[in-house]
Amino acid sequence: VHLQMNEIKNTVRSLNLTSKGVDTLGKANSRFPIRITPHVCSLIDPGNPDDPVGKQFIPSKHELTDHPGESSDPLKEADYMPVPGLIHKYSGRVLVLANSNCAVHCRFCFRKSAVYPENSNAEPPDLLKTRSYVKTHREIKEVILSGGDPLTLSDESLSKMIVSFSSISHVETLRIHTRMITADPSRITDDLIRVICSGKPLWMVLHINHPQEWSTSASEACRRLADAGIPLLNQTVLLRGVNDRVNTLADLSRLLIRNRIRPYYLHLLDRAPGTNHFAVPLDRARQLIHGLREQLPGFAVPQLVQDIPGNTSKTVQFD
Ligand code: SF4
Repeated sequence: VHLQMNEIKNTVRSLNLTSKGVDTLGKANSRFPIRITPHVCSLIDPGNPDDPVGKQFIPSKHELTDHPGESSDPLKEADYMPVPGLIHKYSGRVLVLANSNCAVHCRFCFRKSAVYPENSNAEPPDLLKTRSYVKTHREIKEVILSGGDPLTLSDESLSKMIVSFSSISHVETLRIHTRMITADPSRITDDLIRVICSGKPLWMVLHINHPQEWSTSASEACRRLADAGIPLLNQTVLLRGVNDRVNTLADLSRLLIRNRIRPYYLHLLDRAPGTNHFAVPLDRARQLIHGLREQLPGFAVPQLVQDIPGNTSKTVQFD
């Protein structure tokens, strides 16, 4: 479910934005369409322009300005796409862009140019070609379904993908990357869990950046996933003005651990156009990890990583 423009304007008015703010919204919408769910709206504190959830989904005027070093394909993913919709960058695993649709549009997204609502009803791209590529590359042990958000696919479409890749003998595990625990935890139905459990062992990587994204329904969704035996990891993007404080990140890690989710990665921002206002310098990021290590057990401290095009794995920025 996503809001139409007039509903977005109403939401934003309830956040006390001025008419100038609504104007910004229109301009930002034409660069990267605004998409936000009723569930996310319920997490935003109306009247707080610095709300850490609002900042992730409501555009600011800063995103109308590009900065040097920003790129519509900052990770140069197009260079690693042997067939459309499949990225083979690291040895032993491939990432499949399962669709180009997301339930929400995060304003800092590095795949902004790949995520677009016109494609929202698109079927998974080139499933036959992607499967054929994986089948002929015996070194591929893991298939990662990403996007867009694979959980915006119907159960039927997702099931086809899971069954299709699971039937390749050398594929040992699958992975799903999803933002749905923040966007709409009600998507985690019993039927969906049955689909997820129907193929090779599957790991799920969530994307949660701030404790305020959590909700009772998120707890319930993750409890059912964990009870079904699905290992849960979380990746967080480090965002200036949203989560660049030790206590915020420590609270997030504790919340995740309580819900049987292992904090996995803390990503430095990938520089998509108009995202400079979210960037946190590397020195500050390292200070934050140092602070986390003083407060938390090792397994609750995420790895600080950066995706540098051309490297054979993610670059760890804190040892
Ligand atoms: S859900 Fe993921 S792919 Fe979609 S806009 Fe957010 S960060 Fe980008």
